[in-house]
Amino acid sequence: MAYQIKKAAVLGSGVMGSGIAAHLANIGIPVLLLDIVPRELSKEEEAKGLSLEHAQVRNRIASTSVQKLLKQKPAPLAAKKNLQLITPGNLEDDLNKLKDVDWIIEVIVENLDVKKSLYEKIDAVRTPGTIISSNTSGISINAMAEGRSEDFGKHFLGTHFFNPPRYLKLLEVIPANTTAPEVLQFMTEFGEDRLGKGVVIAKDTPNFIANRIGTYGLLVTLREMQNRGYSIGEVDSVTGPLIGRPKSATFRTLDVVGLDTFMHVAKNVYDQTSGEEQKVFEVPEFMKKMVENGWIGAKSGQGFFLKKDKDILELDPETMEYRPAGKLKTPSQEIAKQQKGLAAKVKTLTYADDRTGELLWSILSPTLLYSAQLTGEIADDIVAIDNAMKWGFGWEQGPFETWDAIGVQKSVEKMKEAGYEIPAFVQSLLDSGNESFYKEENGDLHFFNGTDYEPVPVNEKAIDLKRYKKKHGVLKSNSGASLIDLGDGILLLEFHSRSNAIGLDIMQMINYSVEEVEKNYKGLVIGNQAKNFCVGANLGMILMEAQDDNIFELDFTIKTFQNALMKIKYSSKPVVVAPFGMTLGGGAEVALHAAHIQASMETYMGLVEAGVGLIPGGGGNKELYIKHLKGLPNGVTVDYQNIASNVFESIAMAKVSTSAEEARENNFLNFTDGISVNSDHLIYDAKQAALALYENGYQAPIREKVPVTGEPGYATLLLGAEGMHISGYISEYDLKIAKKLAFVLSGGKLPYGTKVDEQYLLDLEREAFLSLVAKPKTQQRMQHMLVKGKPLRN
Ligand code: NAD
Repeated sequence: MAYQIKKAAVLGSGVMGSGIAAHLANIGIPVLLLDIVPRELSKEEEAKGLSLEHAQVRNRIASTSVQKLLKQKPAPLAAKKNLQLITPGNLEDDLNKLKDVDWIIEVIVENLDVKKSLYEKIDAVRTPGTIISSNTSGISINAMAEGRSEDFGKHFLGTHFFNPPRYLKLLEVIPANTTAPEVLQFMTEFGEDRLGKGVVIAKDTPNFIANRIGTYGLLVTLREMQNRGYSIGEVDSVTGPLIGRPKSATFRTLDVVGLDTFMHVAKNVYDQTSGEEQKVFEVPEFMKKMVENGWIGAKSGQGFFLKKDKDILELDPETMEYRPAGKLKTPSQEIAKQQKGLAAKVKTLTYADDRTGELLWSILSPTLLYSAQLTGEIADDIVAIDNAMKWGFGWEQGPFETWDAIGVQKSVEKMKEAGYEIPAFVQSLLDSGNESFYKEENGDLHFFNGTDYEPVPVNEKAIDLKRYKKKHGVLKSNSGASLIDLGDGILLLEFHSRSNAIGLDIMQMINYSVEEVEKNYKGLVIGNQAKNFCVGANLGMILMEAQDDNIFELDFTIKTFQNALMKIKYSSKPVVVAPFGMTLGGGAEVALHAAHIQASMETYMGLVEAGVGLIPGGGGNKELYIKHLKGLPNGVTVDYQNIASNVFESIAMAKVSTSAEEARENNFLNFTDGISVNSDHLIYDAKQAALALYENGYQAPIREKVPVTGEPGYATLLLGAEGMHISGYISEYDLKIAKKLAFVLSGGKLPYGTKVDEQYLLDLEREAFLSLVAKPKTQQRMQHMLVKGKPLRN
């Protein structure tokens, strides 16, 4: 049977249920969101004279959760309009509607009996073939499937999302003994391709993979902190980015998750284990006291940390009082910082003969050993465990990658000295004369499976550029970018400068790439896999030239950038740009000139130059204006002024989209541009888009003149900007920038509706850019951004 999910139902509208419903809405799937019926009227309901029988009251819990989605941060919805896809209801009156959905996801309280009794009701109404899954964090999937019909059993499995569902990449899929293999396969593919998740298949064991190892690691950290006399702040200062873990490190992560939730998860393993393992899952007394006191973290305003005025305080577990947060500063940290690559840093730190080394070794070694012990029991292989930890906990390296980094042989010797028992899995690796869990053969990655190495499975859609380049090499490269042959006639231009900021090196590579593609290939993709697509032009370089009064050089640079982007636009072969993450200023300008944008769902795009006292100089003003014009349906009377005002607002306010969908609402993307939910598939999707354009007979756009609003338009924009200045929304200098922008967008001193050449608009942009860059206040803004990383309002 071929499965399809066109409509879904989420049962339970709490933290996770509402987040999962939002994520489904984000990918265009209509969702029924059901929750329990309230037993009492709220004050407002009483005041309105409603009774408990009223539908509004009966649906209240789910309806309230839906409304809350609009206020939560980070936003669960990629666009507000997605809310329309979620229909709230209740678990009594609407159960029958479950027969019409293709997937039912249960996300109610973590209680086996309550879940089982709900399944019994679902079993009675669901249509055979409907997939049903539980989001349980740790209840046995097999126990939940007990007593159900055969068809239910075949279609039942665990789908464990991580909080928040839109943003966290991991989806653990846990089959029951009864789950049909084709259902498991379908959900795995659906999870990756449609939900955009990193799917890991887990076995039906307590807390599955990520929470089992993650909770163990956290509790070992707590234990060692107390045994060895470290403070909470000290632990966080070395268990975060320093070792490739999130900024929130150990305790701030716990504060965000909530101590209550964490205790629940820990207790679940505690109840199902024994001996030494169980001891680790015993939560320390002081944490129990914290929960009694209600100090459960971000939800209650305090936990391990407390923010007082501007100070961050840490809890002293001995006195249960807060004190200024400490930091560990040791020589090994300084040495590590100078090393290249995470693996080298972690190795240095772990073996360091100082307080950092002592702590890291004491928490890493048991966690690595525990992961090895559980391989085979909680997951089929080490790849699943590494992926689960990377995708669920935001670690840059999983346990086995970390182990390879610090050296298996060396660490095992040290572990043996410390009296640790070495799991058979690790011993057999060393006995077979091998030294690492992973190794590369002919450019492909292989992993140790207990007896031998086998290839790490690769989804053809998940192109890993680092690996791809190792295997296939690059065609041409300079300090800022490389050109890579993706096969099938498509080239990829990858930016790799610092923060992917655009300088002359990247511009040269754009020119070369387009020329090469026009001559010898079918299409070009511009994309990369750094943290962000591109944060804009190289501000440091611009500031330096500006401070040296090198206006001639700057003019040349801007002109070169404009020409390179026009080359992208008028290439006879399709150029597809694949933005993701921050795509700002010059980065957005690159995208705006493409024949097609294939954006990651998580794309934060905007022309933000005003924040540094500038306006876009690479053709961004013109292109955003044109994109608005072209976005209008045929046959409507075009109000150029309206369009100019929209573009003006977007650029003057330095608006940045919070998703690709919002970028589409802001006209940075149009309706033919694509959105990839799975960011790992972005390069592949962009390549397919370029190929499709080529196959469909792509032709360069015709050079058209652009109608502008001229002098009357300028006056209107100015009036708006002055109004904003008078009401205090923008500063005196903001107004100055706004005036320049207004002049550029309206096309200067021309009558309304005049059609001008694109080059004319580019020249206006460049002149405005150059006049602003010379101003001290603009230079102050640039300096501030470079040093502090945020805009200055002067
Ligand atoms: P929550 O408390 O926010 O929501 C629970 C929901 O269950 C509420 O909407 C509540 O109205 C409903 N409910 C309560 N009693 C019920 C009953 N008798 N019958 C039907 N529904 C009832 O909890 P949550 O954090 O959203 O967790 C939901 C599920 O997801 C649990 O199984 C939990 O283990 C799992 N989970 C939670 C997280 C997390 O970080 N919070 C992460 C992954 C998985």
